[in-house]
Amino acid sequence: MKTKKFDLKRVEYMPNELENGILYVAEEFGAAAHLCACGCGEKIRTPLGPTEWRLEVSRQGPSLTPSIGNWQKPCRSHYWIRHGIVAWASEWTEKQVLAGRSAEEERRRAYYEDKEIEKDAEKEVKMGFWHAAWEALRSLFNGK
Ligand SMILES: [Zn+2]
Repeated sequence: MKTKKFDLKRVEYMPNELENGILYVAEEFGAAAHLCACGCGEKIRTPLGPTEWRLEVSRQGPSLTPSIGNWQKPCRSHYWIRHGIVAWASEWTEKQVLAGRSAEEERRRAYYEDKEIEKDAEKEVKMGFWHAAWEALRSLFNGK
């Protein structure tokens, strides 16, 4: 039976046995897991972190970003958990799976590149603070 709703359960350690319809989160370890929403009983791990999944909790329930694509599992389920509600995507084709994977790699790469850019920007800020401040002021007055 398909799971329609997920409730958040914060745990210290991830239990070995998971229950249907519960999104377990061990925040300290950046770990989240649930049983596949299709009902196949597969344990789905969605590590939390800047290059992994992002967890948001609203009054209605937990949301995970991005979507959950269980292409390594036999069921190949693909769904979102949004405010505790499961939203299904159509099954992934092989092509989409590959595209999804490279999108994920792209996301990771972009993240680390951003980090590099941030570092460079930090250096620039330290070195050229007064220059940057002057530029900012000037552009303000120029209305650019
Ligand atoms: Zn499944």
